[in-house]
Amino acid sequence: MLYFENVSKYYGKNETVALDRVSFQIAPKEFVSIVGHSGAGKTTLLKMLIAEDKPTEGAIFYESQDIHKISRAKLPSFRRKIGTIFQDFKLLANKTAFENVAFAMEANSRDDDEIAMSVPQALELVDLSDKMHHFPSELSGGEKQRVAIARALVNQPDIIIADEPTGNLDPIATYEVVQILKKINDLGTTVILTTHNKGVIDILEKRVITMDGGRIIRDDRHGKYLL
Ligand code: ADP
Repeated sequence: MLYFENVSKYYGKNETVALDRVSFQIAPKEFVSIVGHSGAGKTTLLKMLIAEDKPTEGAIFYESQDIHKISRAKLPSFRRKIGTIFQDFKLLANKTAFENVAFAMEANSRDDDEIAMSVPQALELVDLSDKMHHFPSELSGGEKQRVAIARALVNQPDIIIADEPTGNLDPIATYEVVQILKKINDLGTTVILTTHNKGVIDILEKRVITMDGGRIIRDDRHGKYLL
């Protein structure tokens, strides 16, 4: 269970209100999309969630632990529970698909046998077994994003956060990425997605939180994109 309790975030001296008393909860295995115009507070909300930045007021709990009270020593093990995917993929250009995914495991001190077993499985899940030795420059946008998904998944996180994952993709690649995120969710991982894409929301038919001016203005169980 993930729980935001009256979270506010102000930036700078002029006190830009990025989040304004935001409260909501996300159950394990939920699929939640967060939508809103640019500047609505979506990125700030995700940053609070991965403990990259602290709220000015309020608290965020993950399994009853206040995540901003986790000690520096224990922060890496909290962050391992969360896999992240970004609009611009953030793959290493000089590494193959296999090596990009393996790198995420090496960073978590996993041994060579585990890597040799888990990386092909993760790439199979995103339907890229045939391209595992390709470099990012030899992959399409959709394929790059699927490598990024495999990398986010390979350490078996509880939660996947996907920040505008289809923002740079054409409609077919967008559809494929959404189907893979759905499959991952069906296999038991919580997925939190931000998007501007009405089509994505309509394909998903899952919960939609709508933000505006740092506040949650709607929270729909089987949402439609209503902006
Ligand atoms: P979204 O992701 O929905 O586009 P953001 O969370 O990026 O929205 O931004 C919410 C508000 O907070 C905006 O007004 C933005 O300008 C402001 N903001 C975000 N990050 C910072 C920052 N590091 N410093 C100052 N203002 C910021």
